[in-house]
Amino acid sequence: MKVLRKTAKGEGNVEFKDLEPPKIKSDELLVEVKAAGICGTDLHILHDKSHYVPPVTLGHEYSGVVVEAGSDVKDFEVGDTVTSPATINCGICHFCRIGFTNRCIDPNKRILGVARANGAFARYMAVPAKIAHKLPKDIPFEEAALAEPVACAVHATEMVKVNMGDTVVILGPGPMGLLILQLARLAGATQTIVTGIAADHDRLKIAKELGADHIINVEQENPIPIIKEITNDLGADVVFECSGAPAAQKQAFDIVRRRGKIGLVGLTGREINISLDKIVEGELEVSGSWGTLWTSWKLAIKLISLKKLQVKPLISATLSLEQWEKGFQLMESKEAIKVLLIP
Ligand SMILES: [Zn+2]
Ligand SMILES: [Zn+2]
Repeated sequence: MKVLRKTAKGEGNVEFKDLEPPKIKSDELLVEVKAAGICGTDLHILHDKSHYVPPVTLGHEYSGVVVEAGSDVKDFEVGDTVTSPATINCGICHFCRIGFTNRCIDPNKRILGVARANGAFARYMAVPAKIAHKLPKDIPFEEAALAEPVACAVHATEMVKVNMGDTVVILGPGPMGLLILQLARLAGATQTIVTGIAADHDRLKIAKELGADHIINVEQENPIPIIKEITNDLGADVVFECSGAPAAQKQAFDIVRRRGKIGLVGLTGREINISLDKIVEGELEVSGSWGTLWTSWKLAIKLISLKKLQVKPLISATLSLEQWEKGFQLMESKEAIKVLLIP
């Protein structure tokens, strides 16, 4: 089978390869991948900018069908539609045992499509049954492939709760921003504001279509006085930083109200110059969010299945696996919000 692989450390080194379909262990599922999304992480791995262990088949946002179940597998059978998180948590480290499986500290942790476990940019992949989630048949494969980013967005709102009546500002209209926007509205936010840059033009338009009350291009307008005006000078109740831009991360602290909450979702990859006195003086609640918990998946799948949350507007292109280069380029240029590859 054809697979898309990171073959070695360094910039590039992503190649189309021919590989035998995996042989599953007794506790694994053999999944025929139906759709797989390109994630920022895949771009980071292409450019050697984040953690990965080569050689590894890329791709960790997927949906597929079980074509074989290992002899010890109890909860799944052939024909089930499934998805899963990327992280195969160890289950026995301190953080796994206290329920924070997303922060597992096993140094040899396997991560689908990233480290020691081949991913979804392939016709078949092996998935440990313990991390898999069954999907209702009514979710199309393309939409189901977005369950992972939806679960990540859900986890961000598990870390930073939105209350009914809140004014919520979302910095960055990428997949995370557009999903958190919808989740904030579901949680009862009465006003939502999404900011982006000029290159986000189409994404901001979609934010508006998904219910954002205000969209702001920060290269044209300073968002701080606008948000001050909307909130009668108080500032926003909740700010989610989803862009990973240092300027936005800094801006979050100027947008939030006193005793407000900031959810940091994007990574900047660098240090930013900010006085933490702002947290002290504002009595702010600042929280990071990383990956997903079991609960995040349960709610994510429910919301997609019941059509309470829309993922279709986020799918900009569906390409064959052979067209991966085009897909990566569409994601990199921000022309696309989410590109799916079909193996
Ligand atoms: Zn991802
Ligand atoms: Zn662990």
